[in-house]
Amino acid sequence: MAVSAIPMEYVRVVKSATCGRSLVFTSKFAPGQCILEELPCAYTLLDNKRGLYCDFCLKQCSTLKKCTRCNCVSYCNKSCQIGDWARCHKQECKTLKKIHPRPPDLHVAQLLSQLIRKQSKSAPCTQEDEDCFPTTVDQLESNHEKLSDTKRNHFESLLCVLKQFLEEDVLAEPSSWLKMYGATLCNGFSIMDYGLYGLIDIANGVYLRASMVNHSCDPNCALVFDGRKLQVRTVKDVKEGEECTISYFTAVNYPTKERQAFLDHVHYFTCKCVKCIEEINGLEPDAGLAEEIRGLEKSKEEIEMQIQFALITKDILCSQ
Ligand SMILES: [Zn+2]
Ligand SMILES: [Zn+2]
Ligand SMILES: [Zn+2]
Repeated sequence: MAVSAIPMEYVRVVKSATCGRSLVFTSKFAPGQCILEELPCAYTLLDNKRGLYCDFCLKQCSTLKKCTRCNCVSYCNKSCQIGDWARCHKQECKTLKKIHPRPPDLHVAQLLSQLIRKQSKSAPCTQEDEDCFPTTVDQLESNHEKLSDTKRNHFESLLCVLKQFLEEDVLAEPSSWLKMYGATLCNGFSIMDYGLYGLIDIANGVYLRASMVNHSCDPNCALVFDGRKLQVRTVKDVKEGEECTISYFTAVNYPTKERQAFLDHVHYFTCKCVKCIEEINGLEPDAGLAEEIRGLEKSKEEIEMQIQFALITKDILCSQ
């Protein structure tokens, strides 16, 4: 009997009662090893990058052609246009044409509508799915019960545009929309490109498998983007069974209190990575800790202000 080749898995999902799901390496690997490669399940180009990058492949191109119907999205060639039409533009073109003026968070409403549409077509998750990679957005952490008033207000402000992107059959299920919004905040990736002055955000996307990678302020892996394709690559030697980690922001050199405030505020957890523990333990016992806590509160307020009308992604600190 012919044996079909099973692609090598570099990481596997493990579930713990305290920390939820995480990924561990299936073997030891040297730095530079690609351990996960994935296309997003939903993504949109940032509004201010429209006309500079292809809306489908997210590559920069000097000869982009606009969709002549909506005049909003553009593509490097016919095949990208056809790909995007099948992916989402068939449902979005009419709405994009009629929305004037375009709201500041148009791409956020678009991303959300793609996720809601996708979710409405997928089967509900079952208990067994929990030890595997997620296959639907529904299975991602959403923390939607913990959303602050600012975030809830932001969600409310998106509703009017969001409804215009959704078809009748999907419109009937608004109960899950807030959950989708929460999942986007918790699991949204900033898709980056190398600009003239370093990495720049060009799009927001949700990647189901890469969402399983937990955060560390001293990570053993990093994200590499090639257009919309994401790769997770090791940046140091790793051992079999070791947890695979990335940093949820590129500002890993920010002070401990700012990193912790960001993670607490956006991802709803207190970072207990080795770097955080060492730095917190290194503080003066009393005065230092009180100072740290005051700083944490202040940073939270500042971040709350900054996110008022912005989609929160894992890179908010870097974009400030
Ligand atoms: Zn393209
Ligand atoms: Zn169009
Ligand atoms: Zn940390």
